[in-house]
This record gives sequence, structure tokens and C-alpha cells, in this order.
Amino acid sequence: MEPIDELRELLGADAVLGRAADMAPFLTDWRGRYTGRALAVVQPRTTGQVAQAVAWCARHGVPVVPQGGNTGLVGGATPDTSARAVLLSTRRLRRIRAVDPANDTITVEAGCPLQEVQQAALAHDRLFPLSLASQGSCTIGGNLATNAGGTQVLRYGNARDLALGLEVVLGDGTVWDGLRGLRKDNTGYDLKQLFIGSEGTLGVITAATLKLFAVPRARVVCLLACDTLAATVALLGRARARAGPALTAFEVMADDCVRLVDAMAAPAGRQRRPLFAQRHPWLVLLEWSEPHEARHAQDQCEQLCAAAIAAGEARDALLSQSLDDAQSLWQVRESIPEAQARRGGNVKHDISLPVGAMAAFTAETGQALHALSTDLQVLVFGHLGDGNLHFNVGTRDGVPIAAAFDREAQINDIVYAAVLRHGGSVSAEHGLGQLRRDLAQRTKAPEEMALMRAIKQAMDPRNLMNPGKLI
Ligand SMILES: Cc1cc2nc3c(=O)[nH]c(=O)nc-3n(C[C@H](O)[C@H](O)[C@H](O)COP(=O)(O)OP(=O)(O)OC[C@H]3O[C@@H](n4cnc5c(N)ncnc54)[C@H](O)[C@@H]3O)c2cc1C
Repeated sequence: MEPIDELRELLGADAVLGRAADMAPFLTDWRGRYTGRALAVVQPRTTGQVAQAVAWCARHGVPVVPQGGNTGLVGGATPDTSARAVLLSTRRLRRIRAVDPANDTITVEAGCPLQEVQQAALAHDRLFPLSLASQGSCTIGGNLATNAGGTQVLRYGNARDLALGLEVVLGDGTVWDGLRGLRKDNTGYDLKQLFIGSEGTLGVITAATLKLFAVPRARVVCLLACDTLAATVALLGRARARAGPALTAFEVMADDCVRLVDAMAAPAGRQRRPLFAQRHPWLVLLEWSEPHEARHAQDQCEQLCAAAIAAGEARDALLSQSLDDAQSLWQVRESIPEAQARRGGNVKHDISLPVGAMAAFTAETGQALHALSTDLQVLVFGHLGDGNLHFNVGTRDGVPIAAAFDREAQINDIVYAAVLRHGGSVSAEHGLGQLRRDLAQRTKAPEEMALMRAIKQAMDPRNLMNPGKLI
């Protein structure tokens, strides 16, 4: 019997794909940078079936590559080209198992799209705050496996901060049921945290119990125009001091990113109304949300914007007057990754830095890249409030994008040397996957790498869980 037939007998014929055409949609990553091959793609419907598939792989020495929505940006969910691995898709594992309003928790299966988790929480008048532009497609299992960040980290934290319990299939097929909805549990090592951010290299997350929050009654979005990145940093300090926990997001966008969104999204002749009467080098998108009525939030935001303009930190400001308004302002920010992809991609860096170092880092790195080639164009946007910039390097209008990719190694050397000089991290929220695996080995302390290897060795001694990724 062919190995794939054995898998079909275990999981049912419809759960196992073996033909190249059927497997193709799973084998190229979202950015189109990696295309792999697989022995089979399996789509289990239950935790028991995941356990059977992983145990089968362990028995036969077959690597397992977990995949959720396949929206990861570092090639973590794409197998290598050997066709030895089984790609395990969680997309059919998508039940909302329970909502517990008294405990403020929701328990969901790993393949549940993030947006469905948000909607299930809202149906119980609760908020699940994790929020990414990919939320219609990415899965909660992928969010936890990558410790996703997104736009609400400032107030609610990363995916790591939102998980109370996990259910995981370990590398030998054992199911660990750690689905506890406890906010206090000091009974030794916090094992769930090992799996969060492990990018499928330690086990397959099959379900999670997550924290819920009160739905904010008032939500106001302000767009502020600034002259320099240093001014946006000063504005962040002011907004934090005034808003406290009401400051739920603080995003920056260089004007070049907004131009790109306009150029890529709207057909000629149907351009969006300009945001401000004139263009400004930097835009800040700030979200204020609170449990009080909307008028209070509006007043506070108006006062904040006026004070920022009076202090010279901002030149102009726009405030949302309705939820639709708020959404359309967010739309500009959230369209940037898609617009960059349509333009042909770019050399991406997802970096974090102490907030006070942002302006110096951006100025000196921009100059060094300009010295490398005047064809390059730096496109900066990101979660300034979390100290996280997407520092992407493309090309000027009219210059083929290849001019950036041809210099990828030099560009990366310049950017990452500056990140390390300023005390930052080479991956803030996207993870390491295969794209940044070697970079982590070069930039993390040897004792840190040794501990990570010891954990991997203890939990996956035959290196069958997502080999070639992260470590
Ligand atoms: C337009 C766009 C915007 C984005 N914005 C953000 C953002 O703001 N912040 C951010 O952090 N990311 C962002 N991302 C990246 C991506 O959406 C996140 O990394 C997301 O968490 C990945 O989820 P996924 O289900 O698509 O995982 P996949 O891409 O399928 O997998 C990602 C990694 O997790 C592993 N994995 C997946 N599911 C499991 C599981 N059940 N058990 C164990 N391992 C698993 C895979 O093996 C792989 O290593 C964005 C991506 C796009 C395309």
C-alpha cells in the first residue's frame, strides 16, 4: 500500500490530497517567495484526526508542516522542495467550542479565521481585540503560532497576552489538553507559552481558550499630519499621557505609503478624496476607545489634536465622526501591505526598536540606503506605539522592483546592523520562518540559541515538526 493510501484509510479519502493540482494552492506562500512540494496535504476535521496524522508521520519519519490561513510573511507554512513532508492544514478545524461570558473567555479551534472569532465574541457583546489586515483569512492557530501583533497591541498586547490555554498535538501524536481558562495558575513552567510563537516547530495547536474584553462604546479615530518622525514620537508621548488605556492604537505611515495605496487601489479617474488639503511627510492614525459615551471621546480627541498642533507636533488633524468614518480612515492604513504586494513586493523588514531610537534609526538607515542606490525607495509604516516599524525597501516610480531585490543582501546588512546598533529586534511580529531563520542565529546571543535548541531537542528530537523553520 502507498503511504498516502494509509493516510486516507486513517483520515478518510476527502481529507487527504495527493495530486499536484489539488495541493498547489497550499504550497506557495502569500508573498509568492517560496514554493515547496509535499508528499500529501491533509485536512483533518478533529483534534483526534490531527493526532492520528501526526502519529502516522512520526511512525514513518515524515516531517509535518502545519498551515493555517497561509498568510504568514516569512515562509513558515511552506514545505521545502523535497516532497517528503506532509502539509497539515487546519482549515477544517474551525468550530467555536464555547463562549463563557462569566469568565470572559472563548474557546475556539485552531483553523477558525480570526474574523470569525471576533464575530463570535461580538455576538455575546464581548471584544476579542486581536486585529490584523489579514483577519479574514488568517487563523487563530496561525496567530498563536506566530505570536501575531497587529493594530491593538498597545492596549491589549500580542496574541501571547490573549491566550489562557491551549490544546496541542505533540510531535509523537500525543494530545496535550491545556485548555484552561484561568488567569492565575502558578503550577510550574507555563507550557502554553512555549508553543506560542514557536511557528509549528514544537507541535500543532488544535484549540485555544482566549481572553475577552468589554466592547468599547466609543471609538474615535484621529488622523494627524506631521512633518517628521521625531514629531510623531513626541505626539505618542502626549497621547499616552492624556489617554492612558483609552489609547488603543498609534500607527504611522510615511506619505509615500499613502501615495502607493492611492496608485494601486483606485483606477485612474476614481481617486479617493485627498485626506488633507496638502500632503505631509508623515501621518499618524490614533485610535481612542473607551466605555463612556462617544461625546467624551470626541472632546478628548479634539483637545489632544489641538494641543498637538499648538505644540508644533502636528500640522493638521481629521477626526472620525462615525464608525464608517473610523473604518475608512483605518482602510488607508490597512491597504498598505496589499498595495505594496500589487506594486511587485519589496524587501521587507519587520523590526522593533526602543521608541526613542526610531527617528535616528530611520534617518541614518534611509541615508545609507540612498548611498547604496538612488533607485531605492524606503516605505515606512507600522505600529509606532509598540516600537514596531515595517521598514520596507522598494524602488522609485518607474524603476523595476528587481533593482531592490537584486541588492537584497546589501539592503538587509545595512538595515539589520542599524537595528542591532540601536538595541532593536530583527523580527517584531512576523516571526522567523525560513526567511529570517539564519538571521536570528546570527543576531541572538549564543546562550539564547543554545536554550532554544535544547527545548527543540527535548520536544522534537527527530526534527520532524516544521523542519528548516525558526531554528
Ligand atoms: C495583508 C497582511 C497583513 C498582515 N498584518 C499583520 C500584522 O499586522 N501583524 C502580524 O503579526 N502579522 C501580520 N500579517 C502576517 C500574518 O497574517 C500573521 O502572521 C498570521 O498570524 C498568520 O496566520 P495564518 O493562519 O495565516 O498562519 P500561516 O501563514 O498558515 O502559518 C504561519 C506559521 O504558523 C504555523 N502554524 C499555523 N497554524 C498552526 C497551528 N495550528 N499550530 C502550529 N503551527 C501553526 C505555520 O507552520 C507557520 O510557521 C499580515 C499578513 C498579511 C497578508
